[in-house]
Amino acid sequence: MRTTITTIIIYLFSLTFTFGQTANNELKITPLTGDFYIFTTYKMFGTKKQSANGMYLVTDSGVVVFDSPWDTSPFQPLLDSIKVRHNKKVVINIATHSHEDRTSGIDFYRKNGVKTYTTKLTDEISIENGRPRAEFLMKKDTLFTVGQYKFQTYFGGEGHTKDNIVIWFDNEKILYGGCLVKSIDAKDLEYVGEANIKEWPKTIKKSKTSLRIPNLLSQDITIGKVPKH
Ligand SMILES: [Zn+2]
Repeated sequence: MRTTITTIIIYLFSLTFTFGQTANNELKITPLTGDFYIFTTYKMFGTKKQSANGMYLVTDSGVVVFDSPWDTSPFQPLLDSIKVRHNKKVVINIATHSHEDRTSGIDFYRKNGVKTYTTKLTDEISIENGRPRAEFLMKKDTLFTVGQYKFQTYFGGEGHTKDNIVIWFDNEKILYGGCLVKSIDAKDLEYVGEANIKEWPKTIKKSKTSLRIPNLLSQDITIGKVPKH
C-alpha cells in the first residue's frame, strides 16, 4: 500500500526582526490547514521586534490552544478573535515548555475556564522560576481526543530546554514542534541559555523515529549552527 504523506512542521520562532516598533499587543492569525491556525505575537527587545508562534485547533468540542501569546496584551484579543471567527470557546490549553512565550497565558486561561496542561517536568521548572502553573499535569506522553481530533504530546529528551515537548497529529501528519524544532531559515538556535546542544539532535532524531514522522526534520534543522551566547 502506498501512502503519500505531507508533513507539516510548525516552527515556532521565526527570526524576523523589524526595527523601531512597539508591538507587544500585536496579534496575527494565519490559517495553516483545515482547522489549524497559527497565531503570532511579538515582544520588543530594545528596538528589536521578535515574533513567536503558537497554534490553535478548532474542533467540534471547542478550541485547543497550544502555547500562549508572549505578552499579556493579546490574551483577550486571541480569545475574542477565536469567538468571532469560529463561534467557539477555548476549552484546552497546552504549554510545550516553561518559557514566557509558552506559559504566559496559563493563569489567564484558567480564569476563563480553560483546562490548562503542562508536563510535570515543566511544572517543576515553573515552580523554580515563579512561572504560571497549569491546573493539570502530565506525568507521561498523553493522547488527547478533542471532538473529532486526536493528538499526542511527546517528550523525546532535552533540546531547546530540558522540558520541551512536541505535539503530534498522526492523522493529519502535523508536528507542532515547539521551540525544539527550529525554522529552516533560522540563522541560529535563538536563546540557548538552557539548551542541551549535545542532546538536541538526538532528541529530534528520537522524536522522528518514535512518532514515525516522515521526511523533512533531520535535514531541515540547522542544529549544527550554534551561536556563541
Ligand atoms: Zn523557550
